[in-house]
Amino acid sequence: MKPRITLLAGGVGGAKLAEGLASLCPPETLSIIGNVGDDQEFHGLWVSPDIDTLTYSLANRIDRQQGWGLADESHRVLAGLERFGCDTWMSLGDQDMATHIFRTQLRRQGVRPSAIAQSIAEALGVTLNLLLPTDDTLQTRLRTDQGWLAFQEYFVRERCRPEVREVRFEGASEARPTPEAMEAIEEADILLIAPSNPVASIAPILAVPGIRRALEATRATRIAISPLIGGHTVKGPADRMLAAMGYPSSSLGVAASYAGLIDGLVIDVSDGADRPALEAEGLQVMTTATLMTGAEEKTRLAEETLAFAGSIQQAQEEAEA
Ligand code: GDP
Ligand code: CA
Repeated sequence: MKPRITLLAGGVGGAKLAEGLASLCPPETLSIIGNVGDDQEFHGLWVSPDIDTLTYSLANRIDRQQGWGLADESHRVLAGLERFGCDTWMSLGDQDMATHIFRTQLRRQGVRPSAIAQSIAEALGVTLNLLLPTDDTLQTRLRTDQGWLAFQEYFVRERCRPEVREVRFEGASEARPTPEAMEAIEEADILLIAPSNPVASIAPILAVPGIRRALEATRATRIAISPLIGGHTVKGPADRMLAAMGYPSSSLGVAASYAGLIDGLVIDVSDGADRPALEAEGLQVMTTATLMTGAEEKTRLAEETLAFAGSIQQAQEEAEA
């Protein structure tokens, strides 16, 4: 039987590994739990940046240059909104706007956000299970030297310049996990955490009550892929945010942020010196080239990660026998 694979993923880094897995695995065996902490309303429309990045990437409709948004976009609606004096720092394209209109309309009709995410994915030809950790509203808020900011305000409007001092997931304590996300974690054979921002993309998923416990309890082999290469992010503030949360800004910090939740960690060859310290923490470590620049690297990293999971599983089975 084909292994059931569940991936926890943020936006750009998450989508890259998701594409690699999708190129290898039958869609019915693959579930992706995305991040809704970056969701925000713009111009009366509900925008879900990380979920859209996953969907557009898997649909091969993403703007490959930017890593987000749709390819061949125009921005005529945004220009119109600007004329009305609206804030237009969130660069929403015209076709992208259709996604947000559709999503908002269904939300107003009371359709579950996770059902909406799956229908948008299906409409774009994505057939794997795209899941939300919760159907409730959960928003990542950052306390910075410029006050409290929503994630997109920090990330897009302020270009990650403010210093982050504290991270909160508003609404998390009252949020209920979706049954689909819980089942995908409980029933998985292999549970992967994408090379996403541990603080801004993965922590909001883990903040949904029940999800962390499900990860602790699952029989799946659990592996995270570090988003750091040579101790630095490929793009974005994950290294600085780890440091702000009191973790080392290295693969050791990534591992520490997932303490108790992973059996293995995939790190880049440039971080190979961290291996003994990671192994001393009881982790299995795989060292490989983790930069995914094109389709080939995405598939190769996904393939190597699945083989790594297989070898951990086999070792566990032998130890039990
Ligand atoms: P966001 O929601 O769009 O910020 O995306 P994620 O949280 O999913 O991913 C952001 C992280 O992805 C950053 O910390 C990057 O360092 C990491 N990342 C992006 N591309 C790659 C890659 O090719 N390899 C690895 N290892 N990490 C990557
Ligand atoms: Ca994000």
